[in-house]
Amino acid sequence: MSVIDELATEFAKLPGIGRKTALRLTYHLLKQPADQTRRLAQSLLTLGERVRPCERCFNLTEEALCVVCRDPRRDASVVCVVEEASDIGAIERAGEFRGVYHVLGGRLSPLEGVGPEDLTVAKLVERVAAGQVREVIVATNPSLEGEATALLVRRELEGASGVTISRIALGLPVGGDLEYADGVTIARALSARRAM
Ligand code: ZN
Repeated sequence: MSVIDELATEFAKLPGIGRKTALRLTYHLLKQPADQTRRLAQSLLTLGERVRPCERCFNLTEEALCVVCRDPRRDASVVCVVEEASDIGAIERAGEFRGVYHVLGGRLSPLEGVGPEDLTVAKLVERVAAGQVREVIVATNPSLEGEATALLVRRELEGASGVTISRIALGLPVGGDLEYADGVTIARALSARRAM
């Protein structure tokens, strides 16, 4: 395989990139100054080396704890549970939520072979059992898998006393993705949450 084909094949593995776009990106890079492609390559390398999951909430970070967990102004008694770290960015952009997060690392999907043990639910139960948490807001996506995942979280936290478990309001379109929802929609979904 030629170097061009190799790179195009790698690009084509990315979400939303078809073969045609992959080739276009490759040829575009060929026309760029060498130092620019070198910077891109360096970013890709450091991304894998430096970014890791937060020890507490599994958000992405370059430190032991992520920027949200490190912030003393955040209300650690309210935990918003999301599927992916990228969902946190969407909620943060909405600018309303002052609590902390827990990233599950995906959603239940029997078809893709994702079971409860592949998610960080046990770690969430541990966090809640340690006390301090008074509300868990389940903000998984409004899809079949997202709903199944929400039910799993509720079931696993059933024994936790003094903790309210709520689900964000489905003002989000069914099958829609939290990550791509606008700030107003997210703020509304959060404030109109209901007990599960
Ligand atoms: Zn964190």
